[in-house]
Amino acid sequence: MAESCIFCKIGNGDLPSDKVFDDGEAFAIRDIHPKAPTHVLVVPHTHIEALAEGSAAQRDAAAHCLAVAPRIAKDLGVTSYRLVVNQGPDSGQEVPHFHLHILGGRRLGAMG
Ligand code: AMP
Ligand code: ZN
Repeated sequence: MAESCIFCKIGNGDLPSDKVFDDGEAFAIRDIHPKAPTHVLVVPHTHIEALAEGSAAQRDAAAHCLAVAPRIAKDLGVTSYRLVVNQGPDSGQEVPHFHLHILGGRRLGAMG
């Protein structure tokens, strides 16, 4: 756990969240500033700062987020959605703990 990381704190229960999924390896919370009717973040419990720097175990934890995302979306009633990972300053990444965005519930515009 990284001391100052908000997603580590949410994962530990030290900060509140609207949690919709947790299997012990990853959890999913509703985004506090939703960009779509359904906007959920899938977050590994283990702190992963940058994909390229992760160990094999960390990459597995990131891959697990992708593996559980369709089930989380389905449980939320969303069958058509976009998965997004921001990585680094050019992407506008705000929280330096790997996470997958699930965006759905409306027609999404072009990427850019
Ligand atoms: P990113 O830009 O990919 O790092 O995305 C970080 C996301 O986390 C943003 O969409 C924020 O709105 C969201 N966020 C920040 N703090 C919280 C929080 N405490 N609970 C839920 N979502 C948050
Ligand atoms: Zn963290």
